Amino acid sequence: MDLEGKCALITGGSRGIGKEIAISLAKKGVHVVINYTNNGEAAQETILEIESYNVKALAVKADVTIASEVEKMISIIDENFERIDILVNNAGVTRDNLLVRMKEEDWEKVMDVNLKGVFLCTKAIARKMMRQRYGKIINISSVVGIVGNAGQSNYCASKAGVIGFTKAMAKELAPKGINVNAIAPGFIETDMTTVLSEEVKKNLLGSIPLKKYGKAEDIANTVLFLSSELSSYITGQVISVDGGMAI
Ligand code: NAP
Repeated sequence: MDLEGKCALITGGSRGIGKEIAISLAKKGVHVVINYTNNGEAAQETILEIESYNVKALAVKADVTIASEVEKMISIIDENFERIDILVNNAGVTRDNLLVRMKEEDWEKVMDVNLKGVFLCTKAIARKMMRQRYGKIINISSVVGIVGNAGQSNYCASKAGVIGFTKAMAKELAPKGINVNAIAPGFIETDMTTVLSEEVKKNLLGSIPLKKYGKAEDIANTVLFLSSELSSYITGQVISVDGGMAI
């Protein structure tokens, strides 16, 4: 793969899928910035692991929902990295509930992190990529942004929004040499999904044609593909990595 020496920013790279993406890119020789908001300890552990692959690594604490924090993150990145070739908009949260019980603050939190965060980070990094006339933007959506899910109206709306945003950005940024794609993971075992009950997990398994849960590595492998020139003629697409859940 032609990734050696490139630079990437992974939002929400301290844990789960984002951590695996960061490490997979580092293994290919990519210098990596990870972003996080609360868990500095997890971020530092991830940084140590990234550095073990002899690439530059930086962790930046910034809430992706706050424009001033995103701008500050960009200036810290500018002090340490000459360019950003790959942006993975991965930071995400859930606040599940049935519609009638869902609080306005739970709607807003999920829309803010999962959708506004993608807007703010893309806006900030796209400026750099436009100057470079090169970039790969990969947005992490979800299978439920395609097929919906009871009890997750906020999350489904945010992830469907990410798909629309991805397509608009693909059209807007294509003339500048920037590819924009989305990945729609199915059920992946991380902190986000450990909170689900055994019964819910069993039901989910029944809806997966490949009859197994996904791993963070499955998503990271797709990010590697979309970050590389192997996918240079692909833009505006949503790649489902879900064991067939969305069929
Ligand atoms: P996770 O283990 O809960 O990790 C979430 C990450 O997002 C953490 O690094 C967290 O940072 C960061 N984050 C949360 N709010 C943030 C904010 N306001 N600003 C900056 N960073 C923030 O989640 P995951 O399962 O790896 O999910 C990663 C992405 O995949 C999410 O977009 C999720 O919606 C999507 N996804 C996951 C699944 C799944 O089954 N797991 C399925 C479909 C899609 P801290 O460590 O500082 O808290």
